[in-house]
Amino acid sequence: MKKILIAEDSAQVRETLKSVVEMWGYEADTASDGSEALRKMEDSPPDLVIIDIMMPVLHGLNLLQKIKAGEKTSNIKVVIYTGKDFESEKAKALELGADAYVTKAENIEILKSRIKNLLEGEDTSFNIEIFGARGSIPAPGKNYEKYGGNTSCVKLKAGESLFILDAGTGIRELGRTLSGTGEKVSAFLLFTHTHWDHIQGFPFFAPAYDPGNEFIVYGPRSMDRSLEDTFKLQFDPNYFPVSVSDLSSRIRFRDLTEESFSCGPVDISTVYLNHPGMTLGYAFKRSGRKICYITDNELTGEAGAESVDGAGRLSEFISGSDLCIMDAQYTDLEYPEKRGWGHSPIGRVLSLAEGAGVSRLILFHHDPDHTDEDMDLILDSARERSGISVDAAREGDSLDI
Ligand SMILES: [Zn+2]
Ligand SMILES: [Zn+2]
Repeated sequence: MKKILIAEDSAQVRETLKSVVEMWGYEADTASDGSEALRKMEDSPPDLVIIDIMMPVLHGLNLLQKIKAGEKTSNIKVVIYTGKDFESEKAKALELGADAYVTKAENIEILKSRIKNLLEGEDTSFNIEIFGARGSIPAPGKNYEKYGGNTSCVKLKAGESLFILDAGTGIRELGRTLSGTGEKVSAFLLFTHTHWDHIQGFPFFAPAYDPGNEFIVYGPRSMDRSLEDTFKLQFDPNYFPVSVSDLSSRIRFRDLTEESFSCGPVDISTVYLNHPGMTLGYAFKRSGRKICYITDNELTGEAGAESVDGAGRLSEFISGSDLCIMDAQYTDLEYPEKRGWGHSPIGRVLSLAEGAGVSRLILFHHDPDHTDEDMDLILDSARERSGISVDAAREGDSLDI
């Protein structure tokens, strides 16, 4: 039987939770403050701990930090169950590694389903949804209906944590789906770089204008400007009528270089890509699963070019991934004319992914001149040539990994 520890200072809530958790079919133990909870977890680690935030002796978020840093405790699933209904508190808890955040005002069934998902594996490690897969410029029209015409935007969910990869024009529709739920939005927004086709949708991302929402924005700084300064330039009145001060959600920026960090239950690493300007690729790891997002990258196609175009480092970076989304903008025939534009010929992408032991490759950043018919042919030919599973990203695709 799976074991749950309940860390809660109110005796009444603690005992009620204990009997409810037992009714749900789990073994339950309790602790009345943070340090007692930590001691119990170190002596005999439970599968999951439910933590109140406002507790004597050791505050819930400090306890969470200690659990995630402890050798014996770092694998314990953590559910924050609190009266504090603040987006900033929730964002902080997820940032520190909490697997779920439920408020006491919510129906107890929500707590049950979060716990069930975490303990019984119904919660897939990652869910990916494609909202924009086109490169360079949007490609609307009837010839682009199947793969879609919006530029780069991918939604990645890991438990409670929401990641948005790039804010091309696809983010507008993603914003509509998020606003449509009526729930507050708290998300990590990760930019590969700030070329138009990766930022242009952001001014039309409705959740950014809601004061209850919160975003932490990550991306590379350029040589002479922070990510925040570059990002805000697109709100210059010469380019756009709405001012950046109208973005009433809480937005914080973090400049990235090549590094590793954690967001919620996900470990993230970055790598510089071969593209004009500072551009980063991302790897996401959770529960033994690995997903990579590598777009706007030029593999030059020359024999022995591994050290020149960074393919050697990249191969190591994407090594063993369960799924890899990769820039493959040009066919091998088109590439010689497009050399130096910062995008890859498909042949090189296929061989790199295969050599790196990628299980599933998703071709991405489709050329705006490639119609649905072209894309079907490109995909067929890629599948014929490759020994691994290959797909081409399509708007609306949803995958569990
Ligand atoms: Zn691009
Ligand atoms: Zn670019």
